[in-house]
Amino acid sequence: MITTHNLGYPRMGAQRELKFALEAYWRGDSTLEALRETGAMLRARHWADQAGLDWAPVGDFSFYDHVLDTSAWLGHWPRRVQDWAGDPLDKLFRVARGRTAPQAERQGGAPGVAAAEMTKWFDTNYHYIVPEFDADTTFTLNAEPLLAQWQQAQALGVRGKPVLLGPVTYLALGKAKDGSDPLALLPRLLPAYAQCLERLAAAGATWVQIDEPLLVTDVDERWQHAYNLAYHQLKACRVQILLATYFGALQDNAYLAVNLPVAGLHIDAVRGRDDVAAVLNLLPAHKVLSLGVIDGRNIWATDLNAALDWLEPIAERLGERLWLAPSCSLLHVPVDLRLEDDIDPEVRPWLAFARQKMDELCILAQALNHGRQTVRDALQANAAALAARRSSPRVTQPAVRTALANLTPEMQRRQQPYPVRAQAQRQRLGLPLLPTTTIGSFPQTAEIRHARAEYKAGRLDTAAYEAAMKREIERAVREQEALGIDVLVHGEAERNDMVEYFGEQLEGYVFSRHGWVQSYGSRCVKPPILFGDVRRPHPMTVQWITYAQSLTKRPMKGMLTGPVTMLNWSFVRDDQPREQTCRQLALAIREEVLDLERAGIAVIQIDEPALREGLPLRRAERAAYLQWAVACFQIAANGVRDDTQIHTHMCYSEFNDIIDSIAALDADVITIETSRSDMELLQAFEHFDYPNEIGPGVYDIHSPNIPTRHAIEALLRKAAERIPIDRLWVNPDCGLKTRQWSEVIPALREMVAAAQALRAQE
Ligand code: GLN
Ligand code: ZN
Repeated sequence: MITTHNLGYPRMGAQRELKFALEAYWRGDSTLEALRETGAMLRARHWADQAGLDWAPVGDFSFYDHVLDTSAWLGHWPRRVQDWAGDPLDKLFRVARGRTAPQAERQGGAPGVAAAEMTKWFDTNYHYIVPEFDADTTFTLNAEPLLAQWQQAQALGVRGKPVLLGPVTYLALGKAKDGSDPLALLPRLLPAYAQCLERLAAAGATWVQIDEPLLVTDVDERWQHAYNLAYHQLKACRVQILLATYFGALQDNAYLAVNLPVAGLHIDAVRGRDDVAAVLNLLPAHKVLSLGVIDGRNIWATDLNAALDWLEPIAERLGERLWLAPSCSLLHVPVDLRLEDDIDPEVRPWLAFARQKMDELCILAQALNHGRQTVRDALQANAAALAARRSSPRVTQPAVRTALANLTPEMQRRQQPYPVRAQAQRQRLGLPLLPTTTIGSFPQTAEIRHARAEYKAGRLDTAAYEAAMKREIERAVREQEALGIDVLVHGEAERNDMVEYFGEQLEGYVFSRHGWVQSYGSRCVKPPILFGDVRRPHPMTVQWITYAQSLTKRPMKGMLTGPVTMLNWSFVRDDQPREQTCRQLALAIREEVLDLERAGIAVIQIDEPALREGLPLRRAERAAYLQWAVACFQIAANGVRDDTQIHTHMCYSEFNDIIDSIAALDADVITIETSRSDMELLQAFEHFDYPNEIGPGVYDIHSPNIPTRHAIEALLRKAAERIPIDRLWVNPDCGLKTRQWSEVIPALREMVAAAQALRAQE
């Protein structure tokens, strides 16, 4: 008999119950007890969802983030909260969210606390709280919250498998604030892990899952050594360890992983399928092998018959030692497809959310344990759904295929090199030195949100909705003119979201209503589902932009989301390479760019904030990704005339290691987020001799603080030390949609004044 299990379940709840409970508590509208009750209710419900499995995860639930929880059970708090003596859950929130001084004052005078740094969890869109180490960091076990979850599971009769983040990955995810070596902490860390495992054993746990996703990345010798050290030391514990790796293939770490002294190994058999044969050959004869055969990173139904074809010989070979699971924790997919009563009915049977993935796992196990005929109906239904998906005319559109086949390298290149274009653009646009602009969005006011909600609910007709949006656009134009900004934007009032807005107008996309995925803390995103060939049936932005342009003599910037960002922020079809899907998106956006140009728009911005996000975890795979990502941007952008100015925008990101790719985009202007780095990020551009124009953000839009003209001037001077001043633009770090007009106007006034002051001095 093979064993089924799961690595982790989404925490938010199908209706985002945890989000609302957290936010109510943070607002002061509810109590810690109520919040804890919601947590317990969700855990119970989620274990019930997993009742068909042999082992359900325990300890995968978190009120904020599992890396922060790990710090908590290790008794390792940032120094600034160490002495704070309130409820541990409040302490956790203090670390995660910080506390401004006025907030603290209102609640009894304790000083403000800075929030901990947050960063992306491997190559997902989930963000974790970065552990803060220094040479004196110590660890003291505080297993109570974990044991409480365990006891709840026991009381409910759940066959539980505690889940811990592994010690080596934990150290790798943290940052040493004093430049010390986090690995040096391993000898201090391991006793806490050993004690934790002992406590779990004493509480009745037999298997413990320890997650070490670091093993799918490039791991140097020191870290390899750390793995050996760690697991040899934990070997003495009375529990059986299932070492879990995911998000990719083990590749050169396979030998190391297979030989660590643990009872079982989980590998990602979706992204790491190519590893499996090697792992099977290397696997010591007593070890359990858990194969993650169901995609935990995407929402497509598994091809169960194909999975069985592949698994049957493996099951034959491993017998009892074979375990089955999703590839990784299901944190990265929505909860339950059954709630989607409104999703495109053709596409619906092709999908599986967390709950449905559990069903798939049970079907696979049943077929392997008792024969395919015992689940014949389910297998037939699955085969029929997948056959329909494969043959759907919405999945494969010959016209799109032809357009892709007709792509030529010339379509990726501008007609003339940048210096020639710059001349033509200067003539057409007549901009001053240090031109001012913004990144696209203006405040999404209560009126805008109200109008959109009424329109969606059918209480506002299209004409009335469009009139409301036009009023907002007009307001944005008037404000920008009054401020004296040089290149205007329409303000994006009509857009709910920079990906969804375009996805809704393209063929090949569908949208869920409840398909939320945790991004960080209580924040969730609802990625669109890209299921089929992408085609643009009609222009998407031309009407809005030309309306905005009609209101002003100044250049109005067309505003689009780039193909790579559209791809990286969607659930993407898995039946063709991502590269090919991205090229389809690129062609659709290219058509829009050319339509805007034809309509007389002289400046067009194509946002690519997620370009860097798509970088593969393995260094060896990065060049290939960058190559096609750059090509896709070029396809979208570079069909225009010389005197049409292309902008791109990217948010806070390191540019050092990708600067040649950024230059290869050949955008006339790139705007980036730099203010918090004090223009340090420009170094990459300076050293590379980046040839085109740059708009380094001169103020942080995440903060409600109004920057002063002097601060902005000082930043621009710093920028001018690195980039010739005639290639510099002046703009905020990012879009302004999360701000109020009352913050935006004074801030932009300072920005324009700073630019004018510098111009006067030149
Ligand atoms: N144009 C978008 C805006 O201003 C860009 C958003 C982003 O970079 N994330 O909102
Ligand atoms: Zn941005």
